[in-house]
Amino acid sequence: MTKVTIIGATGRVGQYAALSISRIPYIREIQLYGRDGSQSLLDGITRDLIDSFAATGTASVVRWSCDLADMKGSDVVIITAGVARRPDQDRLDLAHENAKIVADLSKQVQKYAPESMIMMVTNPVDIMTSVALRYSGKKPHQVFGLGTHLDSMRLKSLIASFFQVHVSEVHTRIIGEHGESMVPLWSATTIGGIQISNLPSFGNLPIDDIMGMVRSSGQQIIASKGATVWGPGDAIATIIKTLLGNENRILTLSAYVKSEVHNIGDVCIGVPARINKDGVFPVSIRLDPLEVHAFQRSVERIRGLTEQILQNLQQSDSKQ
Ligand code: NAD
Repeated sequence: MTKVTIIGATGRVGQYAALSISRIPYIREIQLYGRDGSQSLLDGITRDLIDSFAATGTASVVRWSCDLADMKGSDVVIITAGVARRPDQDRLDLAHENAKIVADLSKQVQKYAPESMIMMVTNPVDIMTSVALRYSGKKPHQVFGLGTHLDSMRLKSLIASFFQVHVSEVHTRIIGEHGESMVPLWSATTIGGIQISNLPSFGNLPIDDIMGMVRSSGQQIIASKGATVWGPGDAIATIIKTLLGNENRILTLSAYVKSEVHNIGDVCIGVPARINKDGVFPVSIRLDPLEVHAFQRSVERIRGLTEQILQNLQQSDSKQ
């Protein structure tokens, strides 16, 4: 039986993730953390969740706190805390701001829940996963991010719709950055166990349009309803279930890679990883040459940005 803490629980993703995680049968306790001043909101969220548990016969216990010490005993700490991008801010500025928040929280996680794993959701998620790894001091398999899991699910759904098959018949992966430079792995895409390029209708698949839809999906949802909520929330719960249920499934997450994908890496980025109760373990894979090239570009982009952010954090650490 397990305890999961959500830091950023008053936010849209954090709130829905709590509900979705509560449906996992062996979750014992969900600890919601919010900053000082959010007591009333946290209380309301908690009461609403308790009503939902009663309505669905869910056995989990939910508690709230503004004291990070209450994450003690957590198996996993999920971080969804962060600021949203302001109109005057570019992605890198946002990354600097969120990196400070994530670095501080990661130190606190290690202080109060040294045995826990960290799941990063805050964007830019690949960079924030590296920040959490550095500042928590945890081992690479104990720190991971939502990465390209949701992007992979979006691609899966579009392929299933094109071929008019049930989504469970489609296996596919997107690796690399959770962002512009993401890389679809057609070499690892199957429908009903058949390699997708062996299907005569593969030639009709509008690959560029489909990848355009995957890349812009988050932005379009944000433009229409303000935030992506159910997609990420349920994706988080699937990963938590796989991890704490010791399922050994392979999902595509942001994890630290070094040699597993053609020796390209030394950064946290979206890769297929085997997930069990001990953590997240990238799987060694070989790709088509075009995919290797695209992955290399994505890794270099994220590694460059990650180095900038980590240097910037180090400079502010040394000023303090
Ligand atoms: P939100 O603005 O609704 O919630 C943000 C939460 O962070 C709030 O609870 C806020 O109080 C908290 N917070 C802000 N600063 C904090 C600090 N200094 N310390 C502690 N808590 C702090 O945002 P949201 O829609 O829930 O999204 C949360 C994050 O998840 C964002 O960074 C978003 O970009 C990211 N996200 C990632 C994915 C993905 O696929 N990786 C998907 C959706 C959202």
